[in-house]
Amino acid sequence: MAYKFVDNYREKGARKQLVELLKSRGIQDKEVLRAIGKVPRHYFFDETFWGQAYKDIAFPIGQGQTISQPYTVAYQTELLQIKPGNKVLEIGTGSGYQACILLELGADLYTVERQERLYERTRKVLPHMGYRPHFFLGDGSLGIPQHAPFDKIIVTAGAPFVPELMLKQLRIGGVLVIPVGNEKEQKMVTVIRAGENEYDKIELDTFRFVPLLGDQAW
Ligand code: SAM
Repeated sequence: MAYKFVDNYREKGARKQLVELLKSRGIQDKEVLRAIGKVPRHYFFDETFWGQAYKDIAFPIGQGQTISQPYTVAYQTELLQIKPGNKVLEIGTGSGYQACILLELGADLYTVERQERLYERTRKVLPHMGYRPHFFLGDGSLGIPQHAPFDKIIVTAGAPFVPELMLKQLRIGGVLVIPVGNEKEQKMVTVIRAGENEYDKIELDTFRFVPLLGDQAW
């Protein structure tokens, strides 16, 4: 895919409209909306498809994977309540768009992808846009124990259950956001680590993600 980093009036205008659409769909967090308004989502698309970049849709990024729908990105990010300096783990780097949103909010981001071609592509492209997370290649269903604990963990693929290993990598008071369900649909689940062995779990709306594949996954 040929990347072109040009952000002209048409894309800027489309991005503003996307922010208004997300507001009308219930996204309220001003910082999340600011980040969506800032990150050029068309940079993650071949120029031929720039017309699709600010529609509220998921879109193929190769290797059978997708860049998540903007509403889903905003919804998960809002749940995470990122504060500047939070140490955040993202499982499923994919295109890197969600990673840029988290970095815009001031996260110290660790992001892991299991598909080598996506990992290589994102690792090259994001620094060109000025975004520098810590990149990892591997099975994110195991978390990244050597860098734990994390303030926040976000899983951007659908899991069959909440992996115990991830919970153990949350700081006390930390939050995990993970879609859990079957191959067709998942409920968004948030888990707050309230104490050493105490977890508060809330089930929210239904989404459809590509599967989380790995040792503690499908
Ligand atoms: N956050 C991404 C974005 O902004 O484009 C969303 C990408 S897509 C919906 C989910 C990603 O999770 C895919 O790139 C897929 O390869 C990856 N994935 C699936 N299972 C994984 C695992 N066990 N570890 C790391 N990445 C995984």
